Amino acid sequence: MRTPLVAANWKMHGTKAFADQLLAALAEGLASDECSTSVVICPPFPYLTQVAEAGSSRLQLGAQNLSEHASGAFTGEVSAEMLQDCGVRYVIVGHSERRSLYGESSALVADKFAAAKGAGLIPILCVGESLEERESGKTLDVVAEQIAAVSQLNLADTWHNAVVAYEPVWAIGTGKTATPEQAQEVHRFIREQLGDKGASVQILYGGSVKSANAAELFAQADIDGALVGGASLKAEEFVSICRAA
Ligand code: PGA
Repeated sequence: MRTPLVAANWKMHGTKAFADQLLAALAEGLASDECSTSVVICPPFPYLTQVAEAGSSRLQLGAQNLSEHASGAFTGEVSAEMLQDCGVRYVIVGHSERRSLYGESSALVADKFAAAKGAGLIPILCVGESLEERESGKTLDVVAEQIAAVSQLNLADTWHNAVVAYEPVWAIGTGKTATPEQAQEVHRFIREQLGDKGASVQILYGGSVKSANAAELFAQADIDGALVGGASLKAEEFVSICRAA
């Protein structure tokens, strides 16, 4: 009952010309009927409308971040309503780079999640442990705390129209992927944490996903797709990952 979903996180990469080339290659690569995976592209803010206007019916639009505020004197910030207005459907919240480099706490991430839901966007909530946390046996505690911060807001239907991405921090951009068994263990745990809606929530894996490891990750019962960084910048790789889902 859960459909596969693969999201591309371009991070702070690209130019207008690069985006045009990549989008054309993706539209071509994904045009065939064989691939029924939902595909979401999360470019940097300045390229959102370019992706929207590329107009491939196979590609849905996502953003990488948003403000927790609705509007006002918040220089440099972008609101959920603005994203919605530009055709955005999904938004990544709480990526580990936001948490570690920009000091986003679980409470702030939860407020961003609420802002996204309030504007009708689908948040992709990222959770995951650092290497130190994994090695000291704290993985499940860390993930539980990150999920609980959102659950505690007691939004109406918190996990309806929401996606969770499990991204072990030690696997992001490092070439080290969690083994399918390691990922599955945490995915199952996350699903339990989501309560009675858990069974219908798409839970993505992220962290050095590439064409060579995608199929074995997607074969796991609770892995519904991927959030892809580096490999999403290479059309052929990314299309293979979408096909594997
Ligand atoms: P990666 O990044 O695929 O380059 O490891 C994943 C992410 O940060 O979402």
